[in-house]
Amino acid sequence: MVTIDADRFKKTFRSYSKIGRTDADGLHRLTLTETDRKVRDLFVEDLESLGLDIRIDEIGNIFGRRGGTNPDADPVLIGSHLDSQPYGGRFDGQLGVLSALETLRSFEDAGVEHRRPIEIVNWTNEEGSRFKPALMGSGTFIGEFDGTDTLERTDSDGVTVAEALKRIGYHGEEPCEPREPYDSYLELHIEQGPKLEEAGRSVGAVEGVFGMAWLEATIHGDADHAGPSPMHSRRDALVAASDVVGAVRRLSNRVADDVVTTVGEFEISPGSINVVPAEARLTIDVRSYDDAVVAELVERVEREVEAACKREDVTYDLEEIWRIPHTEFSPRVSRAVLDAAEAVGADHQAMVSGAGHDATYLNEITDTAMIFVPSVDGKTHNEAEYTEWEDAVAGARTFAEATKRLAARPDDS
Ligand SMILES: [Zn+2]
Repeated sequence: MVTIDADRFKKTFRSYSKIGRTDADGLHRLTLTETDRKVRDLFVEDLESLGLDIRIDEIGNIFGRRGGTNPDADPVLIGSHLDSQPYGGRFDGQLGVLSALETLRSFEDAGVEHRRPIEIVNWTNEEGSRFKPALMGSGTFIGEFDGTDTLERTDSDGVTVAEALKRIGYHGEEPCEPREPYDSYLELHIEQGPKLEEAGRSVGAVEGVFGMAWLEATIHGDADHAGPSPMHSRRDALVAASDVVGAVRRLSNRVADDVVTTVGEFEISPGSINVVPAEARLTIDVRSYDDAVVAELVERVEREVEAACKREDVTYDLEEIWRIPHTEFSPRVSRAVLDAAEAVGADHQAMVSGAGHDATYLNEITDTAMIFVPSVDGKTHNEAEYTEWEDAVAGARTFAEATKRLAARPDDS
């Protein structure tokens, strides 16, 4: 069994966390900024001192390769992302990249040989807060987004991804695509929810990701003066929209367990203290691991919008803007995680994820799974985001052991 150096892991985590650190001990490290350049430089330096074969692609994804005893075997890919949300936390993404780094360092220390090459990766722009869409580096890599189109995306100042990459010196030569088939992809990430903490476990072997649908409703009523217009004659778009918000909230416990429903955007116009609202626009996000449940939720939302608008005698447009089915990760790779957790003595369980990650895209081209570690109070995308250090270490130990097992897989199985 391979052992990681917990002190070195913690020290490394601290030094990376200084780059873009906020006053409240969070992390503000938006993709392709000067701060991102600094952390990338440190990462590349660390890969160089391990003697890895480094390459950077046209979207700025950074890869470092450690050779295997069979150099022609399909490699195992491990990593996550070093960018953060605005005033986000230190653990989201970064903990996964540094677990992968610590894994390779401990292999080097112990002289661990593995049949398959292992590649570590830092994906560009996972967060999607400066440039849209999120999961840009991994999504382009697997062919979900077109490379040229990705490079032309702009931030709110009109700077393109290509310009931002050139400014920080990370516009690589290589096309953003796999050069060869991969054996597998493994990513450690914080859970960003409360389940592991509630169960008192350090490690989750993630077997899949919720499917989801996004809807946008626009409700049209009539603007009226808040004084002279009597109640019975009103067609108030906000009253109908508020009914929809309450109904969406209640749907979650009516349809099935483990369903989440959210109204995340809400605007009314004209938005004046003495005017009856003429129009309301809101978005609805529904998720479940069961695609049939997502379909049922969408239908129920449609019925609720229709009923609320009928009661208030207003009209509406309802559009489904996005739907993705649930993701099932590779049983072989999640099995490797469970076995590794057992071997290193980490309290563990199988689980599914409510949120998408780079791993969701990688799953489309190779056998993939994830390791979750607990988030204290489930907090994330927030400076208060925290993971107890012993859980981070248990996760990294599991990660190193699982990586070793994956990289030992014979060529012909
Ligand atoms: Zn993340």
